[in-house]
Amino acid sequence: MEPKDQARNEAYKGFTNHDCPFMPCHEGVTREFNCLFCYCPLIAYECPGPYRVFVDRHGMRRKDCSACNLPHNGYRQSWGFIQKWLERPVLWDGHEQTRYDARLPEEADPPAMDPDGRGEPHDERDGAAKD
Ligand code: SF4
Repeated sequence: MEPKDQARNEAYKGFTNHDCPFMPCHEGVTREFNCLFCYCPLIAYECPGPYRVFVDRHGMRRKDCSACNLPHNGYRQSWGFIQKWLERPVLWDGHEQTRYDARLPEEADPPAMDPDGRGEPHDERDGAAKD
């Protein structure tokens, strides 16, 4: 078997699952839709994507990657992007994305949790929690 960096056939860099019921799961993809990184390998690491942070029911800070198409936009491009950011992975510490304004459409905002991180999520947009 050839090492990947010597292989002429690049089929391992991506594929599109046209039968996926969630297609298209991310907007703005202009190249081949790469489903290889359906679960982004960078979810626990620093990344340049436009994620938003939410707190789950267990109080864990997590990324909402709804607005990110970096792992999906083109087979070669997304493969190269993921490899580059996994060369020297740095664990993500839960901070907000500061590389640019990562605003999402309002309907993509994750539901807010109670301030103590417990109980049912409530939606700040309906005026229940905002001043
Ligand atoms: S923001 Fe994009 S690159 Fe970063 S973890 Fe989410 S899907 Fe991956």
